[in-house]
Amino acid sequence: MKQIAIVSGKGGTGKTTLSGSLSYLFDNHVMADCDVDAPNLHLLMKPETLEIHEYIGGKKAEINDTCIACGICERTCRFDAIRPGNPYSVDPYACEGCGACVLTCPINAISLNDNRSGVYYLSKVDDLPLSHALLDPGEETSGGLIAEVRKLALKAAEDEKRETIIIDGSPGIGCAATSSITGANYVVIVAEPTVSGLHDLDRIVQTVRHFRRKFGIVINKFDLNLDKTQEIIDWCKKENIEILGKIPFDPMVREATIKAEPVVINENSKAAKAIREIYKKIKDQLS
Ligand code: SF4
Repeated sequence: MKQIAIVSGKGGTGKTTLSGSLSYLFDNHVMADCDVDAPNLHLLMKPETLEIHEYIGGKKAEINDTCIACGICERTCRFDAIRPGNPYSVDPYACEGCGACVLTCPINAISLNDNRSGVYYLSKVDDLPLSHALLDPGEETSGGLIAEVRKLALKAAEDEKRETIIIDGSPGIGCAATSSITGANYVVIVAEPTVSGLHDLDRIVQTVRHFRRKFGIVINKFDLNLDKTQEIIDWCKKENIEILGKIPFDPMVREATIKAEPVVINENSKAAKAIREIYKKIKDQLS
């Protein structure tokens, strides 16, 4: 089984547009939307939910009514998560679940409890399994939630004997992005020809290289700034990086997104033609 991750140095580069179209072109595969902070693949694919799982991302302290308001826990907490009162209380958004307050409370009035950080789903779009998730507001454990999304995709692929998992990765270079590319056989990096485009690309390339993944670059909306596109091409040449293709700006992409369709189904779209060529190159990389 092969896993392909589609990532970018920042959000809004057209990563999900490409993922949605690749999902249409590939067959016998599973989709995984690993952008758990702002998932949108399910909006494009309109799936039917089959399974819902709660994600426990850590622990939070809770103070019960036996609290005698001595204030020791407030002085102990390094995250300013304890609020004075009678009883004292815990600010769940500030609490890191370290447990220091539990250890210092003289009357054992504090407990550490499981904290739900998000939800993950297994859905189906016609015959296609899709795993996806949503991190709860204010939660920071997106890497762990992405691991659950990927496990669910892997299980669906094994159960249904699917050959490929296509991962719509998390943007950026943080924990969420690295969780999206870990173990992937090939990484497609989507770049854009903007002022910060090369800088964003450089950062994600360094990250992918750190994890020793095979990768190639796609330049989206390349014709909106030909100078910046040339800058990216020259840099890739210098760095010995393969450019899988360039997607032109195409109003049909927006129209397809509004209709919740992959742009690649439109034969007259110039973006669709470029994506079909990119698809062939990715297939070659996997063979
Ligand atoms: Fe209440 Fe225990 Fe905190 Fe004292 S240390 S304020 S008893 S919860």
